[in-house]
Amino acid sequence: MSSLQVLCFGDLNDFLPIRDRESWISISFQGRQTLKHLIESLGIPHPEIGTVTVDDQPAGLDDFGLEGSRVQVIPFRSGDIRLRPEELGFILDGHLGKLASYLRILGFDTLYHPDAADETLAATSAAEQRVLLTRDRGLLKRRVVVYGYCIRHDEISRQLQEVVNRYNLLEEIKLFSRCPRCNGRLMPVEKSAIADRLLANTRQFFNQFWQCPACGQVYWRGSHVDRILEQIQGLLPDR
Ligand SMILES: [Zn+2]
Repeated sequence: MSSLQVLCFGDLNDFLPIRDRESWISISFQGRQTLKHLIESLGIPHPEIGTVTVDDQPAGLDDFGLEGSRVQVIPFRSGDIRLRPEELGFILDGHLGKLASYLRILGFDTLYHPDAADETLAATSAAEQRVLLTRDRGLLKRRVVVYGYCIRHDEISRQLQEVVNRYNLLEEIKLFSRCPRCNGRLMPVEKSAIADRLLANTRQFFNQFWQCPACGQVYWRGSHVDRILEQIQGLLPDR
């Protein structure tokens, strides 16, 4: 039996029981075990990890744990690996439908299929370099997942804040540019082209419309938009 010590920094401590937070944790193990496996055994999924040092030297998650070593684990920061905004995309697990809609409303390319299997989510995330958002640590621990984040909060506005802050998205928001139903990019549409689909009140009071080329849904800046803006503006500082 071997053992080593692990110290976790920042929000990685969210995954630890209170008694282990901000303190050296002793892990015992048999045979050859990777740092990925040893750190994940504490409940921390590897996509949340930015850098690892062993006895103050840079190390990799595939390195083997060494008897008596001291391992420091630093959280992922968006600056660690530059995810370029024009390439940034998300894929969400089936429990985060509301967050998916709101990320689309903020203009972010967001895949969401409520019935997708974990294996598919992980594989698509890897193949398309999408950030996998989930509350399922087991899903994030799958080896193929490179970019991923475990949503901490229950409330939608807090969840949005987590994602926007983590990936520095504040400047990249393009409100109402994507269809919340299907992720299509909304296009302006002439009122005359869709007038027969509108209720009388909408036809009377609104003149600007957008349509999703993918699913055909028509949108306008009605009172529902004000409610959405209220929800979102609370989380956007000075905006
Ligand atoms: Zn659509």
